[in-house]
Amino acid sequence: MNKKPKKKWLLILLLLLLPIILVVILLILLVGAAFISFAGSEDDSEMGDVVLSEFGENEIPSEYIPIYQRAGEEYNINWILLASIHRVETNFSTNLTDSSVGAKGHFQFMICTWLSWSYPACSSSVYGDADIPESVYTNPSIIAQYGGYGVDANGDEKASPQDLEDSVFTAAKMLSANMSSPNDYEGAIFAYNHADWYVNEVLSYFETYTDGYEPVDGKLVDIKGDKAWVVPFTKNITSEFGYRYDPHTGEAGDLHNGMDIAISGVAGKPAVAFMEGEVIYSQFNTGGFGYLVIIQHDNGMKTYYGHLKQQGISVGTKVKAGQTIGYIGSTGNSTGAHLHFEIRINDKPVNPRLYLQEWLGDSE
Ligand SMILES: [Zn+2]
Repeated sequence: MNKKPKKKWLLILLLLLLPIILVVILLILLVGAAFISFAGSEDDSEMGDVVLSEFGENEIPSEYIPIYQRAGEEYNINWILLASIHRVETNFSTNLTDSSVGAKGHFQFMICTWLSWSYPACSSSVYGDADIPESVYTNPSIIAQYGGYGVDANGDEKASPQDLEDSVFTAAKMLSANMSSPNDYEGAIFAYNHADWYVNEVLSYFETYTDGYEPVDGKLVDIKGDKAWVVPFTKNITSEFGYRYDPHTGEAGDLHNGMDIAISGVAGKPAVAFMEGEVIYSQFNTGGFGYLVIIQHDNGMKTYYGHLKQQGISVGTKVKAGQTIGYIGSTGNSTGAHLHFEIRINDKPVNPRLYLQEWLGDSE
């Protein structure tokens, strides 16, 4: 009499508890699966192992990041690449004036690229700056009709290059349309602006905004500790620091305040920052340096990069070792493409070799 009801109660209790136990197990499994798929999606994304560097974190305005990320997801483009283009085009929208050829807005789009080169007024335009009313080139249905890139991303029924969100999405759409393979960044950037220097500049920002350095023109940036070799393309020294002696009389001539680095094919190749610092000068120097960049480092050190092909990286830019600061040229008092590299300590030129021993050894 006693035993039977006891067993029955146990059975009922078990039956009651069973669904609760099952639900708990199911929940644990679900949470686990969600966690795994979340972690997995980070790994599987287009970004792969490319992550934002500390430098990128400092420089890319945080309010723009969610917009880059949404556009990047929509068109399968690495969002840091969008940030890099934004940096090069308008320095993160701090300079929104039309370009000399009429490029407009946050990402400096030509109207015909935005609206479509098959729009009648564009087919005869050289630069794509055809005189087309804003009401036409921002009209999503006209853009769609002619197959242009312009996107109305913020849903205000206008696709406008003057709207940041629309610009970011349009840039992502255009990059995506011009990639011949998932990692063909060069091809996509070149389609954006048909110039090698432009591609190099965007990629150099992309590299500094991401961890790890990528090859520059097929050559790795050579970094040792906190310093980088300044011409990734070559380590060939054509002229040392010091007095240049007259080959006939043996008399000392002019003092050469720096070191010249050059080799055949170096023209147009990147020059990179020796160390972390801030650009304090970047313009044409009439004293003979031609296009010159000067970087201020800690401890009274300045580095000079002379004879650049064109104006280098902007004054005020915080650079890190190995970041492209300009391209090698022959401007100013120069007879052939080379980098004139100087190191000054408290404004006094010193022999750069003292700081380049890791690469060049002790003697000439
Ligand atoms: Zn020199």
